[in-house]
Amino acid sequence: LFDDDPAPWELDAAAQQMLATVVLTTGPDNQYDYLVPDELLDARRPETLLEVGRRVRVPFGRGNRTAVGYCVALGVKEAPGRKLKSVAGVLDKQSLLTPHMLRLTRWMADYYLCPWGQVLEAVVPAGVRGQAGTREMTLLSLPTRVAARLTTLDVTDKQRAVLQALAASPKPLTLKQLATRVGCTSAPINTLRKQGLIESSVERLDQGELAALEVQRETPKQLNNDQTAVLTEIHRELDAAQHSTLLIHGVTGSGKTEVYIQAIEKVVSFGRQAIVLVPEISLTPQTVGRFRARFDHIAVLHSHLTDVERHRHWKRIAAGEVQVVVGARSAVFAPTPDLGLIVVDEEHETTFKQDSAPRYHARDVAQQRAADENVPLILGSATPSLESWQRAASGEYRLLSMPRRVNDWPMPAVRLVDLREDQNRRGSISRPLQQAMEHALRDGGQAILLLNRRGFSTHVQCPACGASAKCPECEIALTFHRHEQILLCHWCDHRQAPPRACPDCRSPAIRYGGLGTQKLEAEVQARFPKARCLRMDADTMRRPGSHEQALDAFRRGEYGVLLGTQMIAKGLDFPNVTVVGVINADTALNWPDFRAGERTFHLVTQVAGRTGRGEKGGRVLVQTFDPEHPAIAAAARHDYGAFARTELPQREALGYPPFGSMIRFVCRGENESQTSAVADQAVAEIRAAWGQLEQQQPDDPLRLRGPAPAPIAKLRGEFRYHLQATHPDGPRLKAAVKAALAKLTPPEGVRWVVDVDPWEM
Ligand code: ADP
Ligand code: ZN
Ligand code: ZN
Repeated sequence: LFDDDPAPWELDAAAQQMLATVVLTTGPDNQYDYLVPDELLDARRPETLLEVGRRVRVPFGRGNRTAVGYCVALGVKEAPGRKLKSVAGVLDKQSLLTPHMLRLTRWMADYYLCPWGQVLEAVVPAGVRGQAGTREMTLLSLPTRVAARLTTLDVTDKQRAVLQALAASPKPLTLKQLATRVGCTSAPINTLRKQGLIESSVERLDQGELAALEVQRETPKQLNNDQTAVLTEIHRELDAAQHSTLLIHGVTGSGKTEVYIQAIEKVVSFGRQAIVLVPEISLTPQTVGRFRARFDHIAVLHSHLTDVERHRHWKRIAAGEVQVVVGARSAVFAPTPDLGLIVVDEEHETTFKQDSAPRYHARDVAQQRAADENVPLILGSATPSLESWQRAASGEYRLLSMPRRVNDWPMPAVRLVDLREDQNRRGSISRPLQQAMEHALRDGGQAILLLNRRGFSTHVQCPACGASAKCPECEIALTFHRHEQILLCHWCDHRQAPPRACPDCRSPAIRYGGLGTQKLEAEVQARFPKARCLRMDADTMRRPGSHEQALDAFRRGEYGVLLGTQMIAKGLDFPNVTVVGVINADTALNWPDFRAGERTFHLVTQVAGRTGRGEKGGRVLVQTFDPEHPAIAAAARHDYGAFARTELPQREALGYPPFGSMIRFVCRGENESQTSAVADQAVAEIRAAWGQLEQQQPDDPLRLRGPAPAPIAKLRGEFRYHLQATHPDGPRLKAAVKAALAKLTPPEGVRWVVDVDPWEM
């Protein structure tokens, strides 16, 4: 193109120009056109060739300032009236983004209301941008004309030896390699280079090798009937070569992973790649080992990789050398060249939602990516998110069920311990739980105690009837603020005095929740002086690797009791654990969040799945003041359907997801009145913007809750205020919020974030 043909834009140079459209990595969320100097279009110099997906340096702002941005489009365009500036240079030696990834990031920017440049920076790993673990090296080779007359050249014997060594080598050599082979200094080599008898080129090479793993191979299992039925459906979708979403609702141990693996075997047989997303906590050696045992080429992406490792994996994936990518959230951006399938296991897990910008949900991004690349998406869970469940109910997803455990193991029995019957108890361990632990320890088994605790926990609950104080508007638990002696709704700012007696049963024994792991540890030690107790929480597990070490010690039987927060609830498999106790299921239930019931259901179900894995069987005891609560009662019976049937109508009545889209706005600052003023302004602007949108339907009002102090009202010296907007029409809601945010004028020191489809409150 560049040598012979007249470039098309030269035909009418006055009106048409080659322009690069650039999205800056920081700064304004905009696209800018720049002229492209000819030397950046020279295909013979691939290292400086400007392509879509490479980063460039461009003049931006006043004076000689420059900025970095991604080239997102390149083409001949009508020249604008004003004079454009030129791209100053190309930063990458290859494109960092496929056209698919460009479209996906664009979609994310629109959907999550964040700058495109920010999304681009987030999806391309830093190690890839910086080419971590590579080094530029000068490689020496022999020009063909020299090779042809090697014997007749007029050179010294040493120099001839150098040339012969190069001729004998099947690939180019570094200076050091060549000198070592010949046994000479660099002097004769450099002389030959100066004379042009040796050619040199500069290349970027990997330093070191990724560690190779010894893997015990495994053959496919003979599937049972449920598994076969599900796999048949998946195969049909794969053969249809089109996008669809399958939701596999399968109890823990029903053999979902084996089904994923066999589905992926088919994808791999087509020469295509699969991505498997799992929660970070599931990236255990056990899970990873199962994939390694079945596929030759896999890449495992977790948060502890170094930049070098991440870069190496990225290149292997981009080159099509990897069949299966197994990874946490960000593996959804793996640059597979010919994607055939995406699997999201444990799709209900909160860790798929990123809690810093861009605040994306990997399951929803996977959905978008699968649709764009026209491939099936499989979502799997024992306790699907109500979002996915509702989509299956409405026909958008196909629901496939695996209701039985492999080998017909029974589901573990869950016993609810009604704390209302045990009011004179001192401490946090009820009599039934104490007895169960005694039996377990006496028989050489182990016990796990789960204390559900988050940041703070000060709900108000009646120990006589189990009722807890809820906001009359939001149906969300009120939070007790000791200092001001009030009950506060952290969503709509409803405030009321703490009751003296229970409003339901008139019992005066109303009490305030809240218990720490240390206090529980002291209680365990007092009651079981002979058992060693291992405490795991954010305080004791600060050092990297301490989590794994502690669990290994527990597995080896060095401790009788493991107690900890949510971090011990998932992904663990201890055959010797015969008792699991949930100390306070109600804390999850009373977290000020509309998903509290769903979280509680997940928690109890997950915990129950931790026992009964060995021959000894196992028992689960869940302590609660509210055993009739639908989430707790249904979890105890392993009855997801019953839970969904009671929870969904409540969500619908209040306009919560999955029936409404939700956007949360949080602002924070050291000055409380300035911070709350920005939240007030946001509310006013959203109302105004909503009012200006057309096609309003009177029966379809915007729901705005707040502003109110956030559930974590003060963090690191900053006050936090938030508000929440919900409406069934997501795009319209987003348009209003976007218009409103553009008008916000926060004073210095007040910052805000907007969270589309929020998960953690
Ligand atoms: P899930 O992912 O649904 O929790 P897994 O796939 O982990 O279930 O299966 C649970 C256990 O049963 C694993 O140890 C697995 O190796 C085993 N398993 C799965 N499918 C079969 C099968 N068809 N026959 C025998 N064992 C199986
Ligand atoms: Zn009561
Ligand atoms: Zn409220």
